[in-house]
Amino acid sequence: MNTIPPIKRLGTKLIIYSIITALIPIVMLGAVSTDTINTEMTKQAQEKINDDLNTAESVVNLKLDKISSLNKYIISNDNTITSLKNNNTVELKTLAISYKNTSAPDFVVFFDGQGNVVARSNSDVTGDNSYEDLFKKVVNSTGYTSIEVLDKDSIKYENVAELVNIDIKGTEDSIDYSDSVQDSAMALVSIEPIYDKNGKLLGAAMAADILNKDYSIVDTVKDASKDATTIFLDGVRISTNVQDNGGRAIGTLVSEEVYNHVVLDGKTYYGRAFVVNEWYLTAYEPIYDSDNKIIGMLFVGTPESKFLALQANVRNQTFVVGLIGLLIALIVSYLINRGIIKPLEQLKQGAEWVSNGRYDQKVIVDSDDEFGELAKAFNKMATQINISDEKLKKHAEELKTSYNELKELDKLKSELIAIVSHELRTPLTSIKGYVELVLDGTMGTINDSQKKCLQVADDNIVRLRRLIESMLDLSKIERGELEMYREKVNLKAIVCDVIEYLKPLATEKNIKLNKEVEDIAIEADKDRITQVLTNLIENAIKFSPANESILVSGVLEEEHIHLKVTDRGAGIPKKDMEKIFNRFYQVDSSTKRKKGGSGLGLAVCKSIVEAHKGSIWVESELGKGSTFHIILPISTKD
Ligand code: ADP
Repeated sequence: MNTIPPIKRLGTKLIIYSIITALIPIVMLGAVSTDTINTEMTKQAQEKINDDLNTAESVVNLKLDKISSLNKYIISNDNTITSLKNNNTVELKTLAISYKNTSAPDFVVFFDGQGNVVARSNSDVTGDNSYEDLFKKVVNSTGYTSIEVLDKDSIKYENVAELVNIDIKGTEDSIDYSDSVQDSAMALVSIEPIYDKNGKLLGAAMAADILNKDYSIVDTVKDASKDATTIFLDGVRISTNVQDNGGRAIGTLVSEEVYNHVVLDGKTYYGRAFVVNEWYLTAYEPIYDSDNKIIGMLFVGTPESKFLALQANVRNQTFVVGLIGLLIALIVSYLINRGIIKPLEQLKQGAEWVSNGRYDQKVIVDSDDEFGELAKAFNKMATQINISDEKLKKHAEELKTSYNELKELDKLKSELIAIVSHELRTPLTSIKGYVELVLDGTMGTINDSQKKCLQVADDNIVRLRRLIESMLDLSKIERGELEMYREKVNLKAIVCDVIEYLKPLATEKNIKLNKEVEDIAIEADKDRITQVLTNLIENAIKFSPANESILVSGVLEEEHIHLKVTDRGAGIPKKDMEKIFNRFYQVDSSTKRKKGGSGLGLAVCKSIVEAHKGSIWVESELGKGSTFHIILPISTKD
């Protein structure tokens, strides 16, 4: 069973990593392409706007050239000069009408030498000096053609109100730039002086083409550029190719920001602008009159939507590329998943089988890559473990059988020792009794050598009996039958008794037995503690040289009594210090031979001390002596 939470699984991580790996370049690509397209868009838009401006200017210039040519033709015409010279106003009017009809200016006006109107194409009114300012500029000079503002007073006799008047819609809060232009005309004006052969100023001719509501320029530009073009008189739209509610969007006002920038500050404005009903990328250029005064603006604009569509297109393409990238990432992670995770899961399953002891189950990875190799090695390992496991089980079975047999044998041995020891003890007691009877002369007098022989026999009987006692004790211990009779005993008294008992043995070697034992009562089996102390002191006597002394001490330490038996004997090699507490262990065979003994004493002591929940150990220095330590709890209650 898979216990790893889904988010932590290698497969999940792989999918996440793949998605991240796929997304990073896509996002970067998206950012870079958006940035590039924005830059490109701005550049293209700027170029387009400049192109549009140039186109619009060219169209205006063409128109100016046309009207200039017409006027030049007018003043060079002999009829004009003769009629002006003769003040033939009727003829002049005819000429004015004819010029107007052939070359389509909105009106033609003739002036006399003082600038008074002598004939006009659009009415019979004469004698006014409506165009005084314009006329003055050509006196003693050449003519000129330019864009001019003709205010409503100057054109009042031209019958062009129909062409000029525009309803101004809306206001701009902080400025009022509409009043000054109300009913004024922006016009392409050409005015040329007319001289006689002697160079005397006869008058002048003026042709004017009103731009208000004249859409020829803006439509020509639209034909060429497909974009929006508008002519402003001051801040009011007077001609445009932008449609609004089915008509031309004229009469509306430019924004204050653009007005200030272009009309007041005289700079070309580039930027976004909301025109009628959509956003445009625009340029507004000032229009100057012949006095270099800004009289309006030329606007060109290209709808932003074209470029936004391009941008959206790129964004969509990036999105599609992103989706494809993601899809590829998912497919790749799926394939990796199949190639790595599946074999890994198989191997994990295999490891679980092995840990559950199902070595016969085989991991199936049929790829011929490293995983395939790993699976083969894994299966081989499982087979080997299976074989070893079978062997181990067999050995364990054998061991168990052997162990049981040994245990049985050991039990038999202990029983045998117990029986034999027990059976030996009775006759031995009887033998000892009889030997003592003979030795003490009860059975009659014996000579010295007989006595010596019997004494040796008696000593060996004692040794034999002690050996049997020890063997009996040990077999009891092994069978858990060593019984303890715990009572309050005085340790000092026990030590005194043991010393008293062993004094003869010590005296034989002139060894002094000293004691420094505190008067302490403990809970213990008196006979067994006596047995332990007897054994330790006896050993001390046995392994001490003659004329030495042995010290038995006992002090109270917290809840324990600490007993020490110290001699200045042969000492015990370090390597043997623990082993001497094992059964039948003696330091070396020569000692054994010299000193006798069975190697059982200390083993019995250890068992007795431990049965009292105490501990026993030895500290010794070779050649200097040994100290046997015993720790016994004062009370054995837990
Ligand atoms: P044994 O009957 O041989 O004395 P023990 O179990 O009492 O058996 O002692 C085991 C061995 O430990 C001894 O044979 C001896 O080599 C060593 N040993 C015991 N007590 C001393 C001691 N006081 N000094 C030196 N060696 C000792």
